[in-house]
Amino acid sequence: MSEMNVETAGRQSSPLGDEIASRINRLGAISETSTNLTRIFLTPEHRAAADQIMSWMGEAGMRAHLDAIGNVCGRYEGERPGSPCLMLGSHYDTVRDAGKWDGPLGLITAISCVADLYRRGRRLPFAIEVTGFADEEGVRFASTLLGSRAVAGTFNESVLGTKDKSGISMREALIQFGLDPDHVGAAARIRNELLAYLELHIEQGPVLEARSLPIGVVTAIAGATRLAARLTGIAGHAGTVPMALRRDALAGAAECISKIEELCRTDEGGLVGTVGYIHATPGATNVIPGQAHFTIDLRAPTDVHRKRAVTDIVRQIEAIAKRRKLELQVDVTHENRTVPCAPWLKAQVAEAVAAEGHPVFELPSGAGHDGMAMVDIADVGMIFVRCRGGISHHPDEHVDVADADAGARVLLRLIENFRPRDEAQ
Ligand SMILES: [Zn+2]
Repeated sequence: MSEMNVETAGRQSSPLGDEIASRINRLGAISETSTNLTRIFLTPEHRAAADQIMSWMGEAGMRAHLDAIGNVCGRYEGERPGSPCLMLGSHYDTVRDAGKWDGPLGLITAISCVADLYRRGRRLPFAIEVTGFADEEGVRFASTLLGSRAVAGTFNESVLGTKDKSGISMREALIQFGLDPDHVGAAARIRNELLAYLELHIEQGPVLEARSLPIGVVTAIAGATRLAARLTGIAGHAGTVPMALRRDALAGAAECISKIEELCRTDEGGLVGTVGYIHATPGATNVIPGQAHFTIDLRAPTDVHRKRAVTDIVRQIEAIAKRRKLELQVDVTHENRTVPCAPWLKAQVAEAVAAEGHPVFELPSGAGHDGMAMVDIADVGMIFVRCRGGISHHPDEHVDVADADAGARVLLRLIENFRPRDEAQ
């Protein structure tokens, strides 16, 4: 990839940013295929990436090990060994044909920050742990946040029977990887061991770029509701059935989609809605569609707002179906609560951002993150770093070295000035 050359050519003297970018490239080369980046849970690439990350952790003065689900865990002791930790982390699995920065930026930046403390011989009144989550994206077993759920003690053992595309169950895959499926519970941590969970991540959206800001303070990880809608009308001959007598399911779906878009566009509370899938049957040029299925993905910064929007949208599409004499069935297929970032942590992130000379700008995360699982055992905070064009889950995903450096400096400042919740209030 030419990106590395461009970055090297445009080098600014920023030791952390350069180290981070070069490690991003090294980790990005560990892939199932040589032409694009795909690194999936419990594969040889997972293993190779874990070994690489653990060796960086070792160089940064951390004790590193692989936990019972395949997460990499590094610990940098504080002034007194055995103290509770500030946990930093992100994931190192990828989607298929991924970008290099989604996940690894947070993990590698955290390691670079610890390495900087270690080089200066600096110990803090608390320990720092860096966790690289083995599966956040959920590509292999269609179940997300497996790594962070194991750490939070909420790993659901019923998923062990889930099979991947080639028929290998998670149980078998864990054994092949050298882990014991009956001891995933050993990865769990308890609340008393953690002072907070803090994650730096690329924004994966265009908001920071549009405001010319390198860094954002995350307010919440937006909850999501996914619905599956099915409209049933009557299939018929495209030539013989007069327009007034038709019960066209696809035309009804089109009206529903426009309505959903309109409702979200006019919402002022940050509601976003997407219809990303539609299928009409029988699906022939000369047949009036008798049935249409589509999905709806709704997200908002608060649960109250999202739930109100779901009710509103269902009511509106019910009215459309009724007027068009279509039968409507709507099912909730997925629901995630909103995870607000803890105000006391958000305040410390904002302080660090300001102290580094950047304007403090708050924004919610529309994408899901490991904090959604970690909130069960710790208060969660997040820092966003600008990414080019807001592009993510794509090979063109890119972060400028200067922005990676800015993110690292904010994180390092935050770590060095970190006050646990009791002292912060
Ligand atoms: Zn991610």
